[in-house]
Amino acid sequence: MIIKPTDNGREIPWIDDWLRPVVRLHPSPGTPARTDSHSGGPMLWPSDEPWPHCEGPAHADGYELTDEQVELVRSVSTPLIGGMQLYRRDFPELPFPDGTDLLQVFLCLLEHEDIWGPNVHLVWRAAGEVTDPLAEPPVPAAVEPVYGIRPCVFSPCRSHEYPMYYELPNELLDGLEFASAPDFRGGGVECWPGLGDSTKIGGWTRWYRGMPGGEECPDCGATRVQLLALASSEDECAECGRPEGGAGWTLDGRDDTVNVFACPEDPRHTPRLDVQ
Ligand SMILES: [Zn+2]
Ligand SMILES: [Zn+2]
Repeated sequence: MIIKPTDNGREIPWIDDWLRPVVRLHPSPGTPARTDSHSGGPMLWPSDEPWPHCEGPAHADGYELTDEQVELVRSVSTPLIGGMQLYRRDFPELPFPDGTDLLQVFLCLLEHEDIWGPNVHLVWRAAGEVTDPLAEPPVPAAVEPVYGIRPCVFSPCRSHEYPMYYELPNELLDGLEFASAPDFRGGGVECWPGLGDSTKIGGWTRWYRGMPGGEECPDCGATRVQLLALASSEDECAECGRPEGGAGWTLDGRDDTVNVFACPEDPRHTPRLDVQ
């Protein structure tokens, strides 16, 4: 059941304009193949195409890397790790560019300046064009020990989400009674439901340490929107009741979520990452 935000108990007439569809992926440990949708499993990659490497920002000291390891990952090119595969047949709601039917999410499991978390690289491809898949991908010289990923399969659950009130423009907030309290931005507002943590496609961002901002696409100026959330833990699902638990990822020692924002004009434009 989706809980609707209210203004101190009163209905907000325009609130449903802000509903967004979401697909919660509900990962659980499994043994997926490269022809499956999954997280942390094998990637369908052509053997004659260069494996993707991290293109920055620079690798930071991180948490548990030794000085030698930090020096190493700063001096050599770091191959990415397969993070997720999403096939169009399973997730038609993804904005696949023409001719593509597979979204591949690659991760650099090191700490990065500016991101302060793992780096993410997206590849949109036509799965049928991969006739000779790469058997053994390259392995990074070191990964941050607090980050980890294990192979998972999905039990997707489709629903809708309302945004956190931080997302609303001031013109709309100004018309709401709860927002006239002097210190309402300090935290949770009783009449406005929170967003649970989940690894998902679409929906809204669970802002925790930061605020919305920086969504303008550097390639075309459009406003980038939440494409994926890679959450380190899962709260109980408001739609299907799946209990809280681990997610198969440990993307941050602090149980955080890596949010990926993509351009609505072309998802191959530069994505934005925000670790929350
Ligand atoms: Zn990196
Ligand atoms: Zn764009």
